Amino acid sequence: MERTELNRQMAQLLFPHITKTPADYEVIYPPRNLPQGAKVTRIAPSPTGFMHFGNLYGALIDERLAHQSGGVFYLRIENTDAKREVEGAVDVILTSLNAFGLKFDEGATAGEDKGNYGPYRQRDRAEIYQTIAKDLVERGLAYPCFCTEEDLQQLHDRQEAEGANFGYYGKWAVHREITPDEAKALMDEGKPYVVRFRSPGVDGNRIKYKDLAKGEIEMPENCNDIVLLKSDGIPTYHFAHVVDDHFMRTTHVVRGEEWLSTFPYHLQMFDVIGWEKPAYVHTAHMLKFDEGSKRKLSKRKDPEARLTYYLQQGYPADCVIEYLMTVLNSNFEEWRRKNPEADLNEFPFKAEKMGIAGAVFDIDKLNDISKNLICKMSGEEVYEATAKWAKEYNPEFYALLTRDEAYSKAILSIGRGGKKPRKDFTVWSDVPDYMAFFFDETFTTDYPFPENMPKEDILRVLKEYPAQYYDANDDQQTWFEKVKKLTEAMGYAVDMKAYKADPTAFPGSVADISAVLRVAVTGRTASPDTFAVMSILGKETVLDRLEKAANAL
Ligand code: GLU
Repeated sequence: MERTELNRQMAQLLFPHITKTPADYEVIYPPRNLPQGAKVTRIAPSPTGFMHFGNLYGALIDERLAHQSGGVFYLRIENTDAKREVEGAVDVILTSLNAFGLKFDEGATAGEDKGNYGPYRQRDRAEIYQTIAKDLVERGLAYPCFCTEEDLQQLHDRQEAEGANFGYYGKWAVHREITPDEAKALMDEGKPYVVRFRSPGVDGNRIKYKDLAKGEIEMPENCNDIVLLKSDGIPTYHFAHVVDDHFMRTTHVVRGEEWLSTFPYHLQMFDVIGWEKPAYVHTAHMLKFDEGSKRKLSKRKDPEARLTYYLQQGYPADCVIEYLMTVLNSNFEEWRRKNPEADLNEFPFKAEKMGIAGAVFDIDKLNDISKNLICKMSGEEVYEATAKWAKEYNPEFYALLTRDEAYSKAILSIGRGGKKPRKDFTVWSDVPDYMAFFFDETFTTDYPFPENMPKEDILRVLKEYPAQYYDANDDQQTWFEKVKKLTEAMGYAVDMKAYKADPTAFPGSVADISAVLRVAVTGRTASPDTFAVMSILGKETVLDRLEKAANAL
């Protein structure tokens, strides 16, 4: 019988239920109608419920490439492995990326898919993969393989004994020439099978490819008859990637460099099927310094590997993105120096400017960026962002924070707006502790008073200050004059220079007297300016706290 007829019979035997052809899908998913140069990108995570920091890194590249070019950024869910799927995982993906300002134009959503190139969940695309597989079988480019796990293990052992390369190829590919009759007999016996690609690769051949991030790369050509469809008719990553990115009309595939080793499969499949290849951007892993050497950011060991970590800590989304830009594009920092106020989205991101080596994750740098950004925000902005964070991650604090909005905003406005703004916050989760003493519920009374002061002196400050000096209507200068007056009255040094020149001449200084007041009203040795604190706490609370402190001595 003619080879073509045998192939046709085989295709019909394996896929009797498939009635469409690849040409039908070309019509269903036509080339996108986008302006010249517009890029179509996607992320394709597995719905495991875990989002790695690297997912954001990749997604940001995708998003920038698409949205800077007037293209499309979409979400595809790689759920071919049902065992790894976790309920609600799509929601986690969407909410965590949305929280960083990355928005999809199309793809899977928590509800229905959105867009004309779906379905966007791979398990719902079985018919499409099978249509392509059927066509490949018909063209003699794919065949069923009935090898069991044990058969493959034996094959591996024999290859090891002979010193041959491992894999299913050439003379080792035992089902390469299987006939439809033989296949049918095995199917009738209920034997499971996979569908394999008939690789045209030649051992020893090398291929070259220009990756947008890595530059020119050279790799051995693929000779393996890799699996396209598993025994349940669900595709492998390799086949699904090729089929999906073709029919979803992806122009740029951004993915981790762990896919470089199987990249020759993908290039070969595009060529053999006869489809145009997308451009590829293989991204380096995020590394971290650990005991002097670099290693991959580990999901198991490093809390900062988890994307939700940044949300729980309350990093402003902009900072994380800004930080990632410094890692992604070597010219970003120079651009930022020249455009300190510009919107991040104005930076012309280029895949070609990405580093080839692994990007070292530097949390100190992220923290610096965050501190510097937050210190430029107004009290109002800090309030809004903190409230948004607290509502989700610290509801108890949220209740205190929002109980009296004006009060909280006044607190958060202390020391802002000047030339040298206070840098109290790196993340929103720093705010609850900073504000704790402003609320009676979280005010602590361990009173770390200056140790060099005798108890009677401390008590004198706590009694005399409210009785003779404190006036809630005083301005800052008058307030301080009064503290100095009390200092003088107690024989403590008002002039710090004189005190430093001869500390033994005084029992202490104005700094000690101020410290007593600070500790009494805040419960701490370090706090924002005591005058500002007292003004916000208000007369009643100040008097009450001074009295409480005196009673506690
Ligand atoms: N599910 C794959 C991964 O998470 C997708 C790779 C790709 O983007 O093609 O690594």
